[in-house]
Amino acid sequence: SYVLSQQEFVDRHSLTYPFEERGLQFGDGVYEVIRVYNGDYYLKKEHVDRLFRSAEAVKIKLPFTKEELDANLRQLLSQNNVTDDAKVYLQATRGSATRDHAFPTVEANFYAYVEDLPRPEDKLRNGVSAILRPDERWQNCYIKSLNLLPNVLAKQEAKEHGAYEAILHRDEKVTECSSSNIYIVKKGTVYTHPETNQILHGCVRGRIKQLACQDNIPFVEAAFSVAQLMDADEVFVTSSTSEVMPIVHIEDQRIGDGKPGPITCKLQHAYAADAKIADYS
Ligand code: PLP
Repeated sequence: SYVLSQQEFVDRHSLTYPFEERGLQFGDGVYEVIRVYNGDYYLKKEHVDRLFRSAEAVKIKLPFTKEELDANLRQLLSQNNVTDDAKVYLQATRGSATRDHAFPTVEANFYAYVEDLPRPEDKLRNGVSAILRPDERWQNCYIKSLNLLPNVLAKQEAKEHGAYEAILHRDEKVTECSSSNIYIVKKGTVYTHPETNQILHGCVRGRIKQLACQDNIPFVEAAFSVAQLMDADEVFVTSSTSEVMPIVHIEDQRIGDGKPGPITCKLQHAYAADAKIADYS
């Protein structure tokens, strides 16, 4: 298969990097994951815009324009004959240079590749469980940075507990999850953390806000507490790979009646219609 390297397509086995690479030595880079359904991108513009915002926030100059990247991403799917469900991973780092914390004067490194990814049908239908952990990340979580150690450690703990996600909280306030945004439903209203520097501004989160509005579902961007989370009627998380995923157990406590709730299912339905995919709600 072919991967996009800078602005060229190369065989995936021929793409290698020097060990003195800023992503490898400092985590000095940013990334994106874009969903592909039936061979077509979903929310591509939103992800490309966020990649450029993340890069700008950490002063990495991408060696191409948004238009050039857009065209290359299209070609990535056609070169690899992608017609099914998949994800595309994109990464930009500050480049390859002798190790020194301060910026080198080299071009940024960039690559993108596509990987098959079936939809999590059974989980979408039945819901999943989650654990609760303190949010130990830095203060700029709106940047989609390669520095993912706190996220990796939280997700591993979730896995060891047989859970799907780790819900993160700063003091009493719930922020988001290790790799998704989180929402509660109480008396028919959806609540989620506002788009501050404490969370990633999820592309699916942005779309869910629009879809809730179209369906006349009250949508409030206000942080909620751990106590409100545990007392919610419904809980769900969103991301490009999780879609609209019901959370039915948290730390061995059942949420609602332990099944995906009506508002969650309504939003799953709206998401499926928007992405032109099968509805498993
Ligand atoms: N929050 C975090 C920490 C993430 O890593 C992700 C995506 O992986 C999300 C939220 C959801 O973002 P998106 O909807 O753009 O996939």
